[in-house]
Amino acid sequence: MPRVLIIGAGGVGGVVAHKCAQLADVFEHITLASRNEEKCKKIAAQVERPIDTAQVDADSVPELVELVSRVKPELIINVALPYQDLSIMDACLETGVHYLDTANYEPLDTAKFEYKWQWAYQEKFERAGLMALLGSGFDPGATNVFTAYVAKHYFDEIHQLDIIDVNGGDHGYPFATNFNPEINIREVTAECRHWENGAFIETPAMSLKQSFTCPENVGAYKIYRMYHEELESLTKHYPSLKKAQFWMSFGDSYLKHLEVLGNVGMTGIDAVEFNGQQIVPIQFLKHLLPDPSTLGPRTVGKTCIGCVVSGLKDGKPKSVYIYNICDHQACYKEVKSQAISYTTGVPAMIGAKMMLEGKWMKAGVWNIEQMDPDPFMADMNRYGLSWTVIEEPGFELL
Ligand code: NDP
Repeated sequence: MPRVLIIGAGGVGGVVAHKCAQLADVFEHITLASRNEEKCKKIAAQVERPIDTAQVDADSVPELVELVSRVKPELIINVALPYQDLSIMDACLETGVHYLDTANYEPLDTAKFEYKWQWAYQEKFERAGLMALLGSGFDPGATNVFTAYVAKHYFDEIHQLDIIDVNGGDHGYPFATNFNPEINIREVTAECRHWENGAFIETPAMSLKQSFTCPENVGAYKIYRMYHEELESLTKHYPSLKKAQFWMSFGDSYLKHLEVLGNVGMTGIDAVEFNGQQIVPIQFLKHLLPDPSTLGPRTVGKTCIGCVVSGLKDGKPKSVYIYNICDHQACYKEVKSQAISYTTGVPAMIGAKMMLEGKWMKAGVWNIEQMDPDPFMADMNRYGLSWTVIEEPGFELL
């Protein structure tokens, strides 16, 4: 009887619990565990069939091993924070359980996310006959699968990739983040890196922007070039790429607040002493900001996330845009969440389903684009994230 353990009861964890519970034949038994069990219980009360809950500190391998020994899952879906990736992978190796996550490891004291730490587990997972699937959210996640899908079906060789993440949603707050504020701010304030002619090129954060008009009347938005972790794996696995960039939309109010918060030191990750206590500014800021899992009822509008890919087919240049549009309120109606958590949680559920059904079961540590994209793409259409391909979209991107 397939048993799954979900770790993390935030915005994404809630969606994963809902979506797994909808598929009783694949996820027969579900346990949702997090640092604070009350949050798990709150989610469990909303889910349509009974699921178990538990308390765990996922930074502690012994605690994880004890929980896994009790729950006996086949797979852990890690939707806690990137800081917990390695301890959960260690616990998986110790207990013989498969692993999946949506964000790559980042040490708490260095705002630098890279795959090197998790790729170093390749041999250990392979020897143990276990699979670790990395980056099964939307970006990374669906965007990697989109790239693999168009590379497989539309091109002989891909040369340029632009991942464009537009959130046209409005939650009505002057400043709030749609997923964990600490991770979001660390990501957005990092130096920009993009791939060009065989190397990553660094430029200052938010220094390049352009306007992008989304299809299906989602609107026109300012998108900013920034670094995102899937660029590292996609440029490795698609060496024909000459250029790869990631773009995200930001509203003026978000950017204004971020600049001021940065200027006054509130986004810092090093501890400062305050009234005899050590306080990390960004963690205190997280405490003050709206919890992303509470944004669902008040967020209206749509997300539009996709990839513009160009390359060669039969010796001729070709360009394709593949995207998903997701409506914040439709997500809230279905699983009590806004679309950012939804678009992350659904691919996490689908990746887990691919593994448990054996469609993607392969010992070792894998980025999601290394798997056959076809069954995943079919399930995206089935479980709430339908996608569209436009050939020759005519975009002129920087
Ligand atoms: P939240 O902060 O809302 O949720 C994180 C959850 O993990 C919380 O329940 C938190 O507990 C729990 N947690 C944190 N530390 C521990 C620990 N040591 N032990 C056990 N539980 C812990 O974040 P989100 O739900 O928004 O994001 C979850 C993950 O999804 C993040 O890694 C994020 O980077 C990733 N993500 C990926 C995306 C993609 O497209 N690939 C997009 C969006 C997010 P507590 O409530 O006590 O703090």
